Amino acid sequence: MKFYKNHYDVIVIGGALAGLSSALMLADKGLSVLVLERHNLPGGIATSFVRGGIEIEAALHEMMSIGPEDRRLKVGKFFDDMGVGIDWLPVPEAYHASLPDLEVTLHPGLETFAQEIDDAVPGTYHQVLNLLKLCDSVFNSVNELSIHPMSKAQMLIQHEAFVKTAGYSTKEVLDSFDLPQKAVDLLSPYWIYVGSAFSELPFTIYSVLMADYVGYGSFIPRKLSHEMSLKMAERAEEMGVQIEYGQHVEKILVKHGRAYGVRTARGDEIHGDYVISSAYPNTVYSKMIEPAREVPEKATRMVNARRISLTAFSVIMILDRPAEELNIHDYSIFRGDTMDTDELYENLAGLGPYRYLTCICHNYGNPEVTPEGTCSFSITVLPRVEGWKQVTADDYDRVKHAVARQLIDDMSAYFGVNLLDHVLEIVIETPMTVAHYTNAWNGSIYGYAHTMKDHIIARLQTGEEERLIKGLEFAGAHAISGDGMGPQVTNGRKAAKNILDDIAAKEARKK
Ligand SMILES: Cc1cc2nc3c(=O)[nH]c(=O)nc-3n(C[C@H](O)[C@H](O)[C@H](O)COP(=O)(O)OP(=O)(O)OC[C@H]3O[C@@H](n4cnc5c(N)ncnc54)[C@H](O)[C@@H]3O)c2cc1C
Repeated sequence: MKFYKNHYDVIVIGGALAGLSSALMLADKGLSVLVLERHNLPGGIATSFVRGGIEIEAALHEMMSIGPEDRRLKVGKFFDDMGVGIDWLPVPEAYHASLPDLEVTLHPGLETFAQEIDDAVPGTYHQVLNLLKLCDSVFNSVNELSIHPMSKAQMLIQHEAFVKTAGYSTKEVLDSFDLPQKAVDLLSPYWIYVGSAFSELPFTIYSVLMADYVGYGSFIPRKLSHEMSLKMAERAEEMGVQIEYGQHVEKILVKHGRAYGVRTARGDEIHGDYVISSAYPNTVYSKMIEPAREVPEKATRMVNARRISLTAFSVIMILDRPAEELNIHDYSIFRGDTMDTDELYENLAGLGPYRYLTCICHNYGNPEVTPEGTCSFSITVLPRVEGWKQVTADDYDRVKHAVARQLIDDMSAYFGVNLLDHVLEIVIETPMTVAHYTNAWNGSIYGYAHTMKDHIIARLQTGEEERLIKGLEFAGAHAISGDGMGPQVTNGRKAAKNILDDIAAKEARKK
């Protein structure tokens, strides 16, 4: 029997969240879809692994854009609509901020969050709530405009707050609220989830981040992030999608400016009308297009002009005591010796000591995530790729252990408990781990950085011009919405929508 069909409507490279979202949406519209995944499992970074008989989350801290059952946000709704039943658990708090002179736990809900900041920095309630409401208004506009584009004049009338703030950085808008520095510090920890300093992070992105996470709270799947990818793959197969694992796509075949198939490392040449790539544009345009002369000049300029965002370094531990006994009291801790995001961004260019850490104790979101009497605790920094690119193979082990040691020592001092005395299992993930398992360019996890010049609004406007090879779409953190697991579902859907629109336009021309 032949392994592949003679022809597919769409070939998807990569069976992680973005690729699987594209596949689900296309299969739902009746298209024949093939997903080729190089790993032997679906999910990419949305995965887990087993050590000492315990299944351990590889990455996910918290999902945005899910929303509670009665107020689903776009990603939660997509899972529901596609029949991908995930057992979502609400994360009990926004975060615990451990910052100079501040130890404050904040909870979701705009009013609650503002009140808790006011408790720590009295007299700020109304201004903080006004800021959060502004974020919420911008967030609603972004959601509506991404589905119903409209003229600038109409936008001014219906989406005034969005239009007024769109050209400003987060720092500029926060400064205009004239809040005490401590309140600003408490409003800053999530910056790392988008990876750009406030001086260059568009306020629109900050708004979406705050309104989504603070307004609706975040969620985790009961059976870890792999529950999402496994159930998506299972549902896609039920809908007729063919998924093949262990299939590395080496080449995207292009003729007269149009993609017409792929070639795998095994040597299979597979044809289709469209190709969706989860591989980074940097990889695609430098190595994968065949013949190379089909790479448009503009493609090279485009990837060179963009800045790759952050990568990840994480120490994941299973500890031999319940969390409270180790003085761990929160689901999520953001800890820094400053909240000046420009300084922190600079610090991320090196190999440590890192000044801003993110810690997660999954047991507070899901008490059964580890066996009774134990807990899981991870410490993560999201460095820039530059520093890690300098690490030689000979020095890798030393650097990896030195950085892990710094993170563990920092948090041990904070808890007053030597965490190393309580380790049952320990795993260290580095940027090289991410690159190795997912093929991500330089181990990037967030795609291209959001900056004042290159952000979601600009990308939506230039998106059409950047479809440089007909029939080739991109889905992954490197696409329009950028970073994070939730945004990958949106990116995957956008790639599928481009194809569906293209097919509809062709049909209309035929009539
Ligand atoms: C430690 C850590 C913590 C994180 N925490 C969070 C969090 O709390 N919340 C959040 O939203 N996000 C988080 N992220 C980021 C998030 O995981 C990523 O942004 C997201 O998973 C990227 O998804 P993707 O679909 O773009 O790519 P990936 O997950 O990288 O998947 C790409 C897929 O394509 C496959 N592939 C690539 N090239 C080829 C090829 N040539 N042929 C065949 N297959 C190919 C890969 O094998 C892989 O399966 C975290 C990441 C890390 C590392």
